[in-house]
Amino acid sequence: MHYSTRPERRKTRQVKVGKIAIGGDAPVSVQSMTTTNTWDAQATLAQIHELEQAGCEIVRCTVPTEKDAAALPEILAGTKIPVVADIHFDYRMAIKAAEAGVNKLRLNPGNIGGEKKVQMVVDCAKAHKLPIRIGVNAGSLEKELLEKYLRPTPEAMYESGMRHIKILEEAGFYDIVISLKASDPKLMIDSYSLLATRCDYPFHLGVTEAGTKFTGTIKNAIGMGALLEKGIGDTIRVSLTAEPVEEVKAGFEILKALRIREKGINLIACPTCGRLEIDLFKLCDQVEARLKNVEEPIEIAIMGCVVNGPGEAQAAKIGLAAGRGQGVLYLNGEVVKKVKEEDMLKALVEQVEQVVGHPV
Ligand code: SF4
Repeated sequence: MHYSTRPERRKTRQVKVGKIAIGGDAPVSVQSMTTTNTWDAQATLAQIHELEQAGCEIVRCTVPTEKDAAALPEILAGTKIPVVADIHFDYRMAIKAAEAGVNKLRLNPGNIGGEKKVQMVVDCAKAHKLPIRIGVNAGSLEKELLEKYLRPTPEAMYESGMRHIKILEEAGFYDIVISLKASDPKLMIDSYSLLATRCDYPFHLGVTEAGTKFTGTIKNAIGMGALLEKGIGDTIRVSLTAEPVEEVKAGFEILKALRIREKGINLIACPTCGRLEIDLFKLCDQVEARLKNVEEPIEIAIMGCVVNGPGEAQAAKIGLAAGRGQGVLYLNGEVVKKVKEEDMLKALVEQVEQVVGHPV
């Protein structure tokens, strides 16, 4: 068995987004956002189905116009996962989205035109039992806060978040989720950490505008990882300048790395070195691709030689320690058999099928 401690979760309230709970003792959920025009219901649904396949648990769609709001019933009828309407400034879109049956609203109550409109949105959210996510973003902090703090700081982010929270609380609304996103992981870490000491609303974590698949994944992993390791964070969205499916994959890998969620294959593979005696890169790519739809959590270690190989291979559920042209397959630390290089993929897949009890 591998070393594993789960961080103790920050205690929060819990809200329900359709069938998914956020906060409290609910698993940290993984979400993403569509990049299609929401008014194009077919294209949006096609993307949502890809996200569902990848394991996405909540999806957000932007709703900037009436035309987009009008597509929501068709979108909602075509998906099983909860849908969040992303609203900017126009309270009427929030009401239309709620009436269409979305499962959560993302809006900043300070930006929708005053107390009366906030009250209308709050009443509507209550009537439809919808939570609201406040989304503070370092790139769009209020002017007064930028004048006060000169630049986005954790204190400015915190203050902005608390302002929006206060507006909702004064309107009698408490089903709140909040995010304090920044493109700078350090700013985001410190902002959420500060807010965590002052309220018990669940957090949606994100490093926003993080960049492309490679650099963006690293920034998200650092930002979210530091917080999740302290038990902070109840739902996550990795933002990448890439296909949304990549955000979901990265999100689960972050949670799996901290052993917060267990889902599918956790592949342990050596980086290879001069001792390597098989084509390990190819084998690992093949294993990952072949087993990408496995739902059951299984740790597989694929190691390149007999130096560190057997130790890691024995510690995993399924292990393969390779040697010259052949390797040893392990299950639960026990040797199963010797396998030739050309049969390794097949042997690993068969072993996984035996463990999960069905074809994969
Ligand atoms: Fe090198 Fe062997 Fe370690 Fe892989 S397991 S990095 S091949 S020493």
